[in-house]
Amino acid sequence: MILDVRTILLLMAFTAVPTALVLLAVSRFYAARVPGVGYWTGANIALAIGLVLLSLSKTANDLPARVLGNTLLVLTTALYFLAIQRLLGDKPGKRLAFTTVAASGIVFALLWTSAAPYRLAVGALSIALMTLTGLSAARLLLPLTAEKPVSHRFTGLLFLLGCTLMTVRLGHAMFADAAPANLFVPDFWNGMILGGTHITVMLMSLGFALMIADRLASELNRLATLDALTGIGNRRVFYARAEAELARCRRKNMPLSLLMIDLDRFKMINDQLGHAAGDDTLRRFVALVGPHLREYDFFARLGGEEFAVLLPDATEEVAIAIAERLRELTEAERLPAPGFPTPTTVSIGAAQRFENEQSIDQLMHRADQALYAAKSSGRNRVVAASWLQEPSEPPLLQAVSK
Ligand code: GH3
Ligand code: MG
Ligand code: MG
Repeated sequence: MILDVRTILLLMAFTAVPTALVLLAVSRFYAARVPGVGYWTGANIALAIGLVLLSLSKTANDLPARVLGNTLLVLTTALYFLAIQRLLGDKPGKRLAFTTVAASGIVFALLWTSAAPYRLAVGALSIALMTLTGLSAARLLLPLTAEKPVSHRFTGLLFLLGCTLMTVRLGHAMFADAAPANLFVPDFWNGMILGGTHITVMLMSLGFALMIADRLASELNRLATLDALTGIGNRRVFYARAEAELARCRRKNMPLSLLMIDLDRFKMINDQLGHAAGDDTLRRFVALVGPHLREYDFFARLGGEEFAVLLPDATEEVAIAIAERLRELTEAERLPAPGFPTPTTVSIGAAQRFENEQSIDQLMHRADQALYAAKSSGRNRVVAASWLQEPSEPPLLQAVSK
């Protein structure tokens, strides 16, 4: 069976057009959120035009159609590479991509005007396409880590397949005894390679669409778990994380502590400087505290001016020391601004899990009681839950006075 090359080229062109239109619609709706869609759409349009030009070129001497058509194919793979880089958050290597396109165009023009053997032109095209598809494959597949999304691996493997097909085509053109004299001479291998390329290219756009879906899903997930004002975890993700940490620490027989933090007299900032200044204070408080926590601590905003810090593997003693440092930092910062007559401070309740504690609610309840005690004993202080268990021992010894 020998596949007809002209038919394959036209089929490939006609599938590239609707794919480009669908992606164009996506880019119109999600332009700000999905970088790289514009490049991919442009690539498919270049592909369609390039293939139509090539399929219309009737003779081997049809110079402009051949030079332009083949250059557009190289442009297509260059734009795919740029789209992938953009989607993955890299700075697109435009210079590399467009230099390859320009160099290919010049080489094609030279080869066809000098009537060089057809196999040299196939060789030049294959090398340009191999380079760019190979770069895309490498970007998507490397490094080989376990957490790489399936959509990236799928698309990466397709680019690797495309690169392999171009390598086979290069080998066939260069070394086969009876390599065809031009594109349209019926030839089994040529038909098979181009047919395979058609399917691969179609699937590449599907792969890119899956990558877009993955990215939108992780964006939605991020929005659902982060506090919109401060960018740290929200109440929902805090509970999930806290339950998971409690289970882990129980399994490993490790301590787990929790700080409940509430900004003192925060309402005054809103009342005197306005709500925007209050918001700004919350953001600055988060920026102040974040860098002083360990990598595996979890800082979340539970609501309003109330925060929680989960401290895995920390005893109450360690938790108190951390809390005290945060209290001092906040006091020294004089939020919302130096000169404000009553700068906000923090009251903190600290609690450590009991050995048999089943649910995070109990730990939170004890930390909350400690926070309440810190507030009612004057604010700007740290109180540990264990200090409250023995009323005959007042928490004054450790409590920090203003
Ligand atoms: P206390 O020392 O007893 O904690 O006093 P407080 O003023 O900090 O506490 P109170 O609960 O009386 O007031 C909290 C204020 O926080 C009231 C509310 O309007 C404000 N608030 C809650 N969420 C936000 C927010 O997202 N932005 C701003 N600007 N204010 C908020
Ligand atoms: Mg408060
Ligand atoms: Mg409060």
